[in-house]
Amino acid sequence: MTFETLKFADEEVAALKKENRFIKPRVLESAQAPVSVIDGKKVVNLTSNNYLALADNPKVKKAAIDAIEKYGVGSAAVRTIIGTMSLHTELERRFAEFKHAEASILFQSGFTSNVAVCQSLMSAETDLLISDELNHASIIDGARLAKAPRKIYRHKDVKHLEEILSAPEARAARRKMVVTDGVFSMDGDIANLDEIVAVAHKYGAFVMVDDAHASGVIGKEGRGTVSHYGLDGKVEIQIGTLSKAFAAVGGYAATTQSLRDYMGSVARPFLFSSSQPPSVAATCLAVLDILLTEPQYLKRLWDNTAFFKEEMKKAGFDTGNSVTPITPVMVGDMDKAKALSNRLFEEGVFALPLGFPTVPKGKERLRTIVTAGHTIKDLEFAVEKFAKTGKELNII
Ligand SMILES: *Cc1c(COP(=O)(O)O)cnc(C)c1O
Repeated sequence: MTFETLKFADEEVAALKKENRFIKPRVLESAQAPVSVIDGKKVVNLTSNNYLALADNPKVKKAAIDAIEKYGVGSAAVRTIIGTMSLHTELERRFAEFKHAEASILFQSGFTSNVAVCQSLMSAETDLLISDELNHASIIDGARLAKAPRKIYRHKDVKHLEEILSAPEARAARRKMVVTDGVFSMDGDIANLDEIVAVAHKYGAFVMVDDAHASGVIGKEGRGTVSHYGLDGKVEIQIGTLSKAFAAVGGYAATTQSLRDYMGSVARPFLFSSSQPPSVAATCLAVLDILLTEPQYLKRLWDNTAFFKEEMKKAGFDTGNSVTPITPVMVGDMDKAKALSNRLFEEGVFALPLGFPTVPKGKERLRTIVTAGHTIKDLEFAVEKFAKTGKELNII
């Protein structure tokens, strides 16, 4: 089918291909698992955010199936009409508890959680949103939808943050919100949240931490960055996603009861987009139970992380500054990163190449994430294939 009026799309696609930015994703043909079937091939999968390997866990699946049997497949309504199901309120209560907060509010994704908070709280031109330069795209888009102006501080640079907070514009602001990722998704480093909170509070700002890659991963029982730093009760808003370690889809903000109630009446994604299927809420309740009662998943995740990082370093790779299960394998050139990913795939390992604009030019890489489900054998196999293909391509 062709439309003369849509000819521009052909040109746009051609331009993306020329710039090496055209994306054609591989297709997963099995469950999201440590060894998955991707594009018809069985490979060690180092690419998902399935940190705890619970996406196809029997207990979790059973919880989802039971919820479908009891409550059906979907709510067919937004939360504020009749899409609030008992499983949603139960999950909000449990996430509040998990994050040591008074209350929490569910959204359709981590992305919409960030949009919802930024847009609904930074609602006047006299507010100020202050954001780390490497924050996730959903924070950037949330900031664009907010009425408040925004200031960007250099990555984890608390001095720079203080300069912004102490400037007249910030001092005059009605409300100030400092926003940071908890774990940064491309480099796997952790925000210096203790210092950020101290300087934010010094100037009367509140803090929102996006724990998409931290919830279910770092801190006591996987409670996130706030727990990691022992800052319980000191951070105003904690965002989590249900889409990574929790293996389903959705997001939430854990905060005070009154802020939760406010967002529940004004946040546009909450008001104008339907609630999650009950099976999603049941999935997350089951994952929470596992996190609180079966520490072996987190332990395996961190043991695997330490093993993989160590072996990759021994093989001669530059794995950046990551201190989390996200391990970047630096390549420095997109054609080479793609070639490495393709050769690894042929050898039975999947790791995704990332280039501009997801990461800065010159920092092209493969990003790997190990999970609790990988065996030492899977990881040894992966490192061996990395070493072989890395040598072929003169990366090591
Ligand atoms: C993945 C991610 C999100 C988006 O979460 P979804 O639930 O997939 O929409 C938001 N913030 C950060 C830091 C992320 O890594």
